Amino acid sequence: MKAVQFTDHGDRDVITYDEFPDPEPGRDEVLVDVKAGALNHLDIWTRKGLPGVTLEMPHVPGSDGAGIVEAVGEDVSRFEPGDHVAVTAGVACGECEFCRHGEESMCVRFRILGEHLPGVHAEVAAVPEDNLVAVPKDVDWEIAGSASLVFQTAWRMLLTRGELAPGEKVLVLGASGGVGHAAVQIADYVGAEVYATASSDEKLEYAEACGADHLINYEAEDFAGAIRELTGKRGVDMVVDHVGAATWRDSLKSLAKGGRIVTCGATTGGRPETDLNRIFWNQLSVVGSTMATPGEVDDVLELVWDGTFEPRIREVLPMSETARAHEMIENREGFGKVVVRPDSEL
Ligand SMILES: [Zn+2]
Repeated sequence: MKAVQFTDHGDRDVITYDEFPDPEPGRDEVLVDVKAGALNHLDIWTRKGLPGVTLEMPHVPGSDGAGIVEAVGEDVSRFEPGDHVAVTAGVACGECEFCRHGEESMCVRFRILGEHLPGVHAEVAAVPEDNLVAVPKDVDWEIAGSASLVFQTAWRMLLTRGELAPGEKVLVLGASGGVGHAAVQIADYVGAEVYATASSDEKLEYAEACGADHLINYEAEDFAGAIRELTGKRGVDMVVDHVGAATWRDSLKSLAKGGRIVTCGATTGGRPETDLNRIFWNQLSVVGSTMATPGEVDDVLELVWDGTFEPRIREVLPMSETARAHEMIENREGFGKVVVRPDSEL
């Protein structure tokens, strides 16, 4: 079978789509005939190499994917051949104190398929049963294969960790990106007043279609100033910041007294200049969040499968053009999810 892979970290030219040994499902694994899978910003970091993460090479990337069950290991009970499934990439040990409290994404040995472990951007993948959710058969492969990581991340970040409530004001940075567009849809669903930033009017139009009430083009104006103006100098109750170094100071400036900033990533760098005076004087909270528990994944994906939430598909490419997919993400071309499909499926 063929798989996207790389044998070394580096630039986009390390990525190939070549023959790879057929996966054999273990006792608790499911063999999935992969139909589609989205990329995430994580795929860029993984390809470049993350400090402290040593991968078995060649590495097959891909944390999102969906397909049809081909075969199941002898201990698998939830799936049978023919079922449609989507991957949820978080792998927890099941034994540590956090797992035992149902906080799988806080697992002390938490790992992510495609990042620390082999991923699913291949014609066929052997995936642990715990890392699959059932997908109704009327859901398109592009949707099924692109929702899991960003929607579970945004769901836990806004609701469980951030405790977003109806009527609160929330600012979502990078609202047309993967996590951003999921966060706008979830915040709107909760009944919050949504302020969205993006780099172009076209992206903002899309954020509006996702449910944003106030639009700020951050290329044209300073977003913290815009928030101050739009809220009568009050600020917002929550800022969703997955951008990091480039936005952190202005994110803190955008918060009302007692507000909180929630973060699940730092695409522009993880060491921002911060302002402790502002944090204590305004009594702000900084809240981190990573992935989600299996129960949260079930809750949010149910709302994707029934059409309440919809991942935007930016582009569908053959897996042999995965390097091009990385280029689109790195250059911020367009918005929404870049999806790859096995060349044999196109
Ligand atoms: Zn654990």
